[in-house]
Amino acid sequence: MEYKHFSHQHSLMMYQVQQGQQLRCSGCESYCHDSVYACWPCNFFLHQHCGNANRYVKHPSHPLHPLILLPSPTYCSATFLCNACGAPGNAFSYCCALCEIDLHVHCAFLPPKVTHNSHPHQLGLICTNPADKVDQNTPNCICKICNKLLESKHWAYDCSKCDLFLVHTYCATKEVKLGLYPDDAASDSEAVPQNGCEGQPEVELTEDAVVELYKLQLQMQMADQFAQMMSSFNLTSLA
Ligand SMILES: [Zn+2]
Ligand SMILES: [Zn+2]
Ligand SMILES: [Zn+2]
Ligand SMILES: [Zn+2]
Ligand SMILES: [Zn+2]
Ligand SMILES: [Zn+2]
Repeated sequence: MEYKHFSHQHSLMMYQVQQGQQLRCSGCESYCHDSVYACWPCNFFLHQHCGNANRYVKHPSHPLHPLILLPSPTYCSATFLCNACGAPGNAFSYCCALCEIDLHVHCAFLPPKVTHNSHPHQLGLICTNPADKVDQNTPNCICKICNKLLESKHWAYDCSKCDLFLVHTYCATKEVKLGLYPDDAASDSEAVPQNGCEGQPEVELTEDAVVELYKLQLQMQMADQFAQMMSSFNLTSLA
């Protein structure tokens, strides 16, 4: 059985990763376990959940525009900084080029609720600024799991029962990472809308509409970059 993926020119074959074998997913840059889509001549592999990720999602964190799955960042730097976790990425991203929103695939599909063995209550995902919950004078706070800084601009999990129990998304989901994506994760669990960010991303555009939108976003982004370039020219010529 052969598979086609829009990000790769060759057909992909399903392959069962052997123990001790280190294959890196070209979608999320982390190691693969279980079954992968593979193009051996190119050393190209995709987790099933990365290969099956929808071309676009309507994400509750960004209701204005759909987020488009890009095979690689369109920025000059060829990397993006994830708006959810703050970490850089060089591979797949869910992107709104208009608003410069970029999410790792796994960050776009973070579960709305998780449990962590360090805390007795369920934790809920908040995509809005956790600083809203914090004293004005301390815009950033400390992750209750790793005790490192939790920047207010990044997403967090929090406990609705405890005061200011906020943790990094990656700290909260470390233990569940491997089981995070059953293939139908997006449609599987019933969403409970609340808080603006609960619930799984939904998809409802036609493929054509998305391609159009994607072109439009790229055009806007290019126009924007062009304008920035022009303005920097103007500045240097003034100097
Ligand atoms: Zn992957
Ligand atoms: Zn190939
Ligand atoms: Zn991320
Ligand atoms: Zn947007
Ligand atoms: Zn942490
Ligand atoms: Zn609690």
